[in-house]
Amino acid sequence: MDLSTFQEIVSDTALRGEILFLGIKEKGRRWIDPPDQGTVVALAPHQDDPDSVAVTMSLFAQAGCRVCYLIVCSSHGGVTDNYALKHAELNGELPVKDLVKYKFRIRLQEQIESAELAGFVKDPVEFLTVEEDEGGNLVESPENAELIEQALAASNPDIVIMPYGEDTNVGHALVYRYFHMCAPRLALARGKPILALYNRDPKTARISEQLVVPFGGEAARWKARLLQTHRSQQERNLQQRGYGLDERILRTNREIQQELQQRILEGWKDECPYAEAFQVELFL
Ligand SMILES: [Zn+2]
Repeated sequence: MDLSTFQEIVSDTALRGEILFLGIKEKGRRWIDPPDQGTVVALAPHQDDPDSVAVTMSLFAQAGCRVCYLIVCSSHGGVTDNYALKHAELNGELPVKDLVKYKFRIRLQEQIESAELAGFVKDPVEFLTVEEDEGGNLVESPENAELIEQALAASNPDIVIMPYGEDTNVGHALVYRYFHMCAPRLALARGKPILALYNRDPKTARISEQLVVPFGGEAARWKARLLQTHRSQQERNLQQRGYGLDERILRTNREIQQELQQRILEGWKDECPYAEAFQVELFL
């Protein structure tokens, strides 16, 4: 499908208050093909965020889009001391001089490994150097807003994917806010629209699902493998919650499907027990 037609249909359907499905051809009445060209940028507050929407990213890539990852925070605070020191011991890297830098390197390597495993990210993963707090989280500052705007302008996206801003995670909320501030300017400067897809994440407080990507068990297992490459996060989730990052994300994907099943009767639901979902916004 032509990119601008895709952007218009997705936006118009959302404005009419209807739900559109991506990627499951002939299974339901309201499905749409992904566009066959254009640049899709995952604007990720954290390293594992693009993998939370991996099925959607892979659909765009398979259809012919260029897919890029833009990672905002170092997120080193997500790695426990225990995990980092064990990692260093196993790799013969003890003693660790700078634990913060070492933790960031762990997250960076995990992210690069996951992008390689996904196989469809042809450009190198871009890591921004933003102002952060002591936990490696994005802080509120005009410089950070400017950095994000410049990086987006350079990647020149037709579609931007990120977590929706009504989220208890400060990084998610801030990246959304900064994107929202600069998106009208970016669209105007490039003279072409930008379609934003804001995904529902485990910490999303409130969202209106307008574009839905149902998927089945095989895609779920593939997505779980991508999420498992973030071993530091997988382990932290297992310790703190009793289940891994893979299960945490897939639980949200099951919740989305189950909630939609109450509202919509479509043939896809039996073979697709999972769904990624997005609120959409078009910047002209
Ligand atoms: Zn995140």
